[in-house]
Amino acid sequence: MSIFYRLHWSDCPPFSAENAWSASWGSTRSADGSQTECLTCDGTGELDGEPCSDRDCEEGWTDCVAGYSCCASADELIAYLGGRGEPGADDTVVVFEGRQVDTGFDGEPTAVPERVIETLIWPDFVARSS
Ligand SMILES: [Zn+2]
Repeated sequence: MSIFYRLHWSDCPPFSAENAWSASWGSTRSADGSQTECLTCDGTGELDGEPCSDRDCEEGWTDCVAGYSCCASADELIAYLGGRGEPGADDTVVVFEGRQVDTGFDGEPTAVPERVIETLIWPDFVARSS
């Protein structure tokens, strides 16, 4: 079991092991968050009248990576988000104990949470970490 740090956007489904799926940045998610629209065919499942050629595509949807995209330290999380635009005051950082199940689209760990240690809003997290 390891400790992970995740920024949980305010518009994501509630933080839980069941909702622990990662998608590439900015993609459109299915209702349960476990799949995203295929980028090859824009979610239509077809390309030029043929079935979509993306091997991960199932009728326009591709499976997400299991586990929440997260970082192994507070510094890494701040650096990871640094180039992406600052999170808002409603976005929370979740510090949790969990196990890494995979690697995300940016090479970051993806983990399924087992126990939440604390949650705090982004500005407080940054203030405490700096
Ligand atoms: Zn497709």
